[in-house]
Amino acid sequence: MAEQLKAIKGMNDILPPDSARWEWLEDTVRRLMRRYGYHNVRTPIVEPTALFVRGLGEVTDIVEKEMYSFEDSLNGDRLTLRPEGTAGVVRAMNEHNFLYEGGRRLYYIGPMFRHERPQKGRYRQFHQVGAEVLGFPGPDVDAEVILMTAALWRDLGLAVGKDVCLQLNSLGQPAERLAHREALIRHLEAHADQLDDDARRRLHSNPLRILDTKNPAMQAIVEAAPKLMDFLGDESVTHLRAVRDALDAVGVPYEINPRLVRGMDYYNLTVFEWVTDRLGAQGTVCGGGRYDGLIEQLGGKPAPAVGWGLGMERLLLLLQEVGASSPSVAPDAYAVVMAGAPMAQVLQTLENLRDAGVCVQQHPLGKDGPPSVKSQFKKADASGARFALVFGPDELAQGQVTIKPLRDGGQQVAQDLSSLTTWADDLKAATQS
Ligand code: ATP
Ligand code: MG
Repeated sequence: MAEQLKAIKGMNDILPPDSARWEWLEDTVRRLMRRYGYHNVRTPIVEPTALFVRGLGEVTDIVEKEMYSFEDSLNGDRLTLRPEGTAGVVRAMNEHNFLYEGGRRLYYIGPMFRHERPQKGRYRQFHQVGAEVLGFPGPDVDAEVILMTAALWRDLGLAVGKDVCLQLNSLGQPAERLAHREALIRHLEAHADQLDDDARRRLHSNPLRILDTKNPAMQAIVEAAPKLMDFLGDESVTHLRAVRDALDAVGVPYEINPRLVRGMDYYNLTVFEWVTDRLGAQGTVCGGGRYDGLIEQLGGKPAPAVGWGLGMERLLLLLQEVGASSPSVAPDAYAVVMAGAPMAQVLQTLENLRDAGVCVQQHPLGKDGPPSVKSQFKKADASGARFALVFGPDELAQGQVTIKPLRDGGQQVAQDLSSLTTWADDLKAATQS
């Protein structure tokens, strides 16, 4: 036998029955986006490497060590599998002049690629849902994008403030960050002996990121570092206040975390994360914030923006962890076909049922006609279907099919084919309630 090939480490197949949970999550996201008036965008999975280097910043984990970059063997172009969604969306909006007539509310769902060490909640191909609002400067849209994530948790059956908690911070404006940065460098230099290699390397290039360290040996010096919050000007403070007021008004609980910075360089003012303590080290389910400089940085006409991205794998892990109900992949009915049943009549009946919205699975009949009724019933049971539809030649001759309940007991009945759609309507009404 030929050697079997395997998927790449850290890149997972999503298979049934698990794929039904993915579809359910995607459906829930799409309904949410419709309710908030966000439109779907689909950008390429491969982009020029320069887009991410310029968009994310040279000294970020992603650009420094996580990107899947390669040379196009045809023309030598430097290309990268997208590690995140924002840069591509902004590129597309710039390229197609989409902000010409005002702002846009957009969302995407799709795979992202980062060369990280695979572990629970961290993969090399993973999937994000992202929302981006481009063109609006006010704190009301910061609040809106946060509120919609809270609504998503509710839709999915997660307890806001318990299963997932909101952390909020403001990164202020560039000048405020600069003043803080200088104070921060002075503080870190004064404790240079306690810095790890990573921190020493970033001391002058990106000291803010040092605050994000997961090294326990550095927690004390990070704890004592000057806080950006103390360097914010009036406008930044007012902006944060307005976001807080909106969250308070709707009763979404949050915690101010002055040490919250985000992995990407492009954020300013509002930043936030939804975290959980139920997934170990990979506790951030969703992160986002304002990035007013990015559109211009990528060559567009200056325009403000705010958005978030969430990790679908982590979210699904969390939902499993809290025991949130997951969708069924079972059909409503399973067709059992007896030898001698006229197939034309069977097929037409099944098509009628499916047109009426009933999920019907038919037993594969094989080349030599129907297998034994017993083995078909075994499969019917294993499928999880609520009913078996038994097509026998005698019943069909009388215009009937036998309906046998498989789950909740009950007697089997002979059902007239002429009124089968009424049965289908009752079934649908019952499963929807
Ligand atoms: P982390 O600190 O966990 O590496 P991040 O700051 O790099 O996260 P973002 O770039 O903000 O993450 O991406 C948004 C979300 O995407 C994260 O909150 C997380 O849920 C998810 N995510 C990021 N990287 C991965 C990965 N390698 N595998 C699975 N999910 C991921
Ligand atoms: Mg990361």
